[in-house]
This record gives sequence, C-alpha cells and structure tokens, in this order.
Amino acid sequence: MTAKILDGNQLSQTMRGELAAEVADFVRQTGNRPGLAAVLVGENHPGRLYVRNKQKRCEEVGVASWLHELPSGVSLAELLGLIERLNADPAVHGILVQLPLPKGLDEAAVVDAVSPLKDVDGFGPVSLGLLAAGRPRFLACTPFGVMKLLERNNIPVAGRHVVIVGRSNIVGRPLSLMLSLKGTDATVTVCHSRSGDVGAYTRQADVVVVAIGMANYLEADMVRPGATVIDVGMNRKPDNSGWTGDVDFPAVSQVAGAITPVPGGVGPMTITMLLHNTLQAARLQVR
Ligand code: NAP
Repeated sequence: MTAKILDGNQLSQTMRGELAAEVADFVRQTGNRPGLAAVLVGENHPGRLYVRNKQKRCEEVGVASWLHELPSGVSLAELLGLIERLNADPAVHGILVQLPLPKGLDEAAVVDAVSPLKDVDGFGPVSLGLLAAGRPRFLACTPFGVMKLLERNNIPVAGRHVVIVGRSNIVGRPLSLMLSLKGTDATVTVCHSRSGDVGAYTRQADVVVVAIGMANYLEADMVRPGATVIDVGMNRKPDNSGWTGDVDFPAVSQVAGAITPVPGGVGPMTITMLLHNTLQAARLQVR
C-alpha cells in the first residue's frame, strides 16, 4: 500500500484564502483590523524565522502584526510590563510570546500574564481549562491544525481509536482533550516516555499521532495497515540540510492509509490556526 499524502501546504493555503475573505468582512463590518503582537526575547532566538513567517502570513490575510524584540538580559518585570501594555492596547487582539524564553525568566509567569481574551496560542491556563471543561475558546495552534488536517481530509475520528505519542502542554495533552470532546467523540490513548511498549498501543490505532521530537521513532511495524499517521515532529537533520519528522516516512508510508509529510504536513497548519485564532480574538473583543 502507498499512503495518501495529507498535504498541509495545500490545505493551509486554501484556509488562508478563506481567512482573508473573513478578515475583509470583519474589517468592513466593524472598521477594525484584527491585530497580532509577537514578543521575541533574545538576540539569537531559534524561533526568529518562525516569527517572521507568522508576520508574512498575517500580512497576506489582512491581519495587522507587530514584533516586539527584547534583549536576552531583559528582566521579568520589564517583560511583564510589555505584556500588560499589550493586554490594554485595543488594537492588539492576540499576543504571542515566542517560547522558549531565555534561562532565568519564569515562563509560566509570562504565559499566565497574557490576557485570556488575547491568548491566541491557547497555552494559557484559562484556554486549557476551558478546553478541559468542554467549553473550548482558543485551541492550541498545532493540535488545532492536526484536527483540521483530519477533518478537511474526511478522516473520521468519532468512535475511532486515536493513539497520541507525547503528552506536552502544547501538542499531545491539548490534542487528547480536543479529540475526546463530546461531538468529536474519539477514543484516545496518550503514550509518553513511561508507557513501555508504545508499539503495543499504536498497533491498535485507527489514527496515530506522534509528537515526541525523535527522528524516525515510529517504524512500520508499529502501525496497523491502513491507519492514518500524523507526524508532528520537527527534527533538524544531522547535516543541517533540513527537517525530518518523528516517523520513518519511507517505510511507514508503505503501510499507512494516509500520512503527513515533514516538512509540508502539520507545520504549515500551525501558523494558519494562529491567524484563525487572531480573527476569533478580534471577534470576541470588538463589539
Ligand atoms: P516535548 O515538550 O519535549 O514533549 C515530548 C513528549 O514526548 C513528552 O510527553 C515525552 O514524554 C514524550 N516522549 C519522549 N520520548 C519518548 C519515547 N521514547 N516514547 C514515548 N514518548 C516519549 O515536545 P513538544 O514540544 O510536544 O514537541 C514534540 C515534537 O513536535 C518536536 O519535534 C517539536 O519540534 C515538534 N513540534 C512541531 C510543531 C509544528 O508546528 N509542526 C509544533 C510544536 C512542536 P514525558 O512526558 O514522559 O517526558
């Protein structure tokens, strides 16, 4: 079997076209442009390119964007002061603090300081708590992108068994909550580094999602023939020539029914869902 490729580049382009039309409607109706403020701390931040990409995509769909760059030696008080100003700025509907922060800055304090109405990354305790309570507001962008990839490729999850490998607060855990919401109705198993024989779980899955950060971790004998495989992993190739996922793509794509490539699968969806959340935040704040 050769798996169907779930093309995140194509889907995110389609969705950004849809978003651009929705943003234009919003601007016409309210006279306000959705706005996203990004905060980048540290001169050599690994996410610098990623933040620039986000700004480019904002422009494409008509979302205003601002980048606040702070030196790595900034104090927690100064950083919290900036977030307070952005929380109070009516032109800013979404705030994105690019993680990780330099050592010594309390990441939890910074994430907690972002107004829950502007938490477009969906990492904050209110966003995660609302999701856990079955009343989702802002969904964390990468798992939200996984949900859209499944939905828009007509891969059913209701009544199906989804096995997620990885339980981080930004991918595995929120994804498990999204999939098990009433109305979405997947049966979810979450594996992690203490799960033992992970293959014994993944072999039972209709859908396997891997998000651990270990190149070529998921091998062909860990996948049931015909299953859908979603690869969230992004690992730099040893020779620095690009990226590779957590899935042994050449082998697994011979067994799976559908599979995401790396790059070009989940990655591009993340920025698209950030734009979606920024428009949603603007709708919540502009009356
Ligand atoms: P993380 O915070 O480091 O979490 C990794 C998770 O994997 C943890 O839950 C860990 O278990 C689990 N794990 C590690 N080794 C394992 C093993 N051998 N067997 C089973 N589980 C194992 O990572 P993350 O931030 O979620 O990121 C995961 C990957 O996704 C990375 O490659 C990252 O670059 C990528 N990513 C991509 C995007 C995107 O936009 N495409 C966005 C975010 C992340 P414990 O909890 O027990 O430690």
